[in-house]
Amino acid sequence: MNADIEWGSLPFGYYPTDYNLRCTFRDGKWGEIEVSQSETLNIHMAATSLHYSQEIFEGLKAFRGVDGKIRIFRMRDNAKRMQDSARGLLMEPIPTELFEEMCVRAVKLNERFIPPYGSGASLYIRPLEIGISPRIGVKRADEYLFVVLVTPVGPYFKGGFQNTNICIMREYDRVAPQGTGRWKVGGNYAASLAASHKAHEMGYSAVLFLDPKEKKYLDECGPANFYAIKDGKYITPKSDSILPSITNMSLMQLARDMGMEVEQRHITVDELESVSEAAACGTAAVCSPIGRIDDLNTGKKYQISKDGKPGPITTEFVRKLEGIRQGELPDTHGWITFVE
Ligand SMILES: *Cc1c(COP(=O)(O)O)cnc(C)c1O
Repeated sequence: MNADIEWGSLPFGYYPTDYNLRCTFRDGKWGEIEVSQSETLNIHMAATSLHYSQEIFEGLKAFRGVDGKIRIFRMRDNAKRMQDSARGLLMEPIPTELFEEMCVRAVKLNERFIPPYGSGASLYIRPLEIGISPRIGVKRADEYLFVVLVTPVGPYFKGGFQNTNICIMREYDRVAPQGTGRWKVGGNYAASLAASHKAHEMGYSAVLFLDPKEKKYLDECGPANFYAIKDGKYITPKSDSILPSITNMSLMQLARDMGMEVEQRHITVDELESVSEAAACGTAAVCSPIGRIDDLNTGKKYQISKDGKPGPITTEFVRKLEGIRQGELPDTHGWITFVE
């Protein structure tokens, strides 16, 4: 029996579920998986995660399909990316099998929180890893805790799929040129909060960050990747400070399947003059189409959407990706893991 929740109006937020899973790395090895009903962690007050930000995370989703089956989207890619993040912060990489087993078990154990097909909601899976050894000197931990929690989240667009406006702001960088931007690290988010807050106060949905070295090229769109459609081509920024979004990788594949050319390259700010569509992409929204981009430093306004509606290619991307995730369209690239 499903939990009694108004799925369609759930925010993208924390909603308590029945169980979470934990596993500790200690004495050079990962221990037994622990199933917990507690919503809190008991860790040492000098843990490296608290003082020196040895913290990484992931985000993926499980769906109830049109056929009633439960599907997780591209779980193996999230496992791989988390291993890259771990190596980036000298943390202990989580073996793929352990990552997958814990995600699948967390979904199964909380099955009553998987939103029904057609509700537009999904079960968000949030794996996180933290350093737990006590340190005061700056040093890596040798003990790590890996936690998988799940929480149901509502449809991203409550009032229907629509454009939002974003802004360019040069006073803030989210990450450094050769820094931690390429890994999914909590600290990157801490560094983006002030800029995002300022943008929200001015009515923008996000900040389009520029490359932190030259401030010439487009980088990331808040906590999401950026792409645009130019002369029928899919273009997306290439940079060492961008997190490789699995949604972006999926859209690049769909674009190729649709016969479009794909370019991963530097994109200058001026190029925004000549794009027909632009969007932020990530697990939360799939695509969040952009109406207008305001450069707050130059005063220039780039009107991306001419008719105020999301562009046809972005709309098609969302239809396709949602279709695959919910079993309405064939999974031709092996992106789906079924939970029995
Ligand atoms: C998680 C994340 C994304 C989106 O990645 P997906 O795998 O598509 O969800 C993009 N940028 C940043 C900074 C992120 O942390």
